[in-house]
Amino acid sequence: MSKKKVKLVNKKGLRSDKRRLEELRPISIEVGTLDKADGSAYIEWGGNKILVAVYGPRELHPRHLAMSDRALLRCRYHMAPFSVDERKSPAPSRREIELSKVTREALEPATFTELYPRTVIDVFIEILQADGGTRCAGITAASVALADAGVPMRDLVAACAAGKIENKIALDLNDVEDKIGEADLPIAILPQSGEISLMQMDGKLTAEEFQEAFKMASEGCMKVYEIQKDALKKKYATISTELEEIEPEEKEDEAE
Ligand code: ADP
Repeated sequence: MSKKKVKLVNKKGLRSDKRRLEELRPISIEVGTLDKADGSAYIEWGGNKILVAVYGPRELHPRHLAMSDRALLRCRYHMAPFSVDERKSPAPSRREIELSKVTREALEPATFTELYPRTVIDVFIEILQADGGTRCAGITAASVALADAGVPMRDLVAACAAGKIENKIALDLNDVEDKIGEADLPIAILPQSGEISLMQMDGKLTAEEFQEAFKMASEGCMKVYEIQKDALKKKYATISTELEEIEPEEKEDEAE
């Protein structure tokens, strides 16, 4: 693909997918998609489709990895071979190893791992379809899946990127924008404390552009946070309504 032929921002300031520069792609999160996992979440973020399963805290194998003061948060970011148009090799790539590491580092400050010494909390992130920004979408879904697993957490972790396309700062780059654009700045935030648990940068930004992109990405994270909370409320509000419906019968049984 020639860099010059693809127009990323038109005269009206709209992007190739008709978004404004400060607009997120549509995001939906489903909580508890997998019955067998302790916690799970499925996220669709623009063209990204990602499934996350969480198991644990549970016994750790191999045992020599155990830590006496906390649980090991073991994250695996994996792209399915069919997740991109050119078949991706099933072997773990350097990129997947890096993204597994930064995902762990992004989630760890939010997780009370110190409550479960010598155990492991496994987080499996499966990229079923990739369209740019999978690390942010994966971290966002993984923190919801950890909450669904009942792992005690200080906060959720909301992630979002901003970048630079055709000399303009833009929120949440898609695959084409990520590949042709000039820079990408993915961040993850613990929204209640404002702590930043992930910040990476690809490409070049001036100090002013960095400030603008950082502000835009932070605001994006706060929108993502609302979607995460809504997804959790949707599942757990339904469960509590079901429990309320069961309760009157139980009370009758008790009276008998
Ligand atoms: P992120 O997905 O977090 O933006 P990158 O910037 O490394 O991470 O990747 C950008 C996008 O490039 C991915 O979301 C995906 O759409 C695409 N991509 C990544 N790896 C491959 C690959 N092996 N083959 C084809 N496309 C890929």
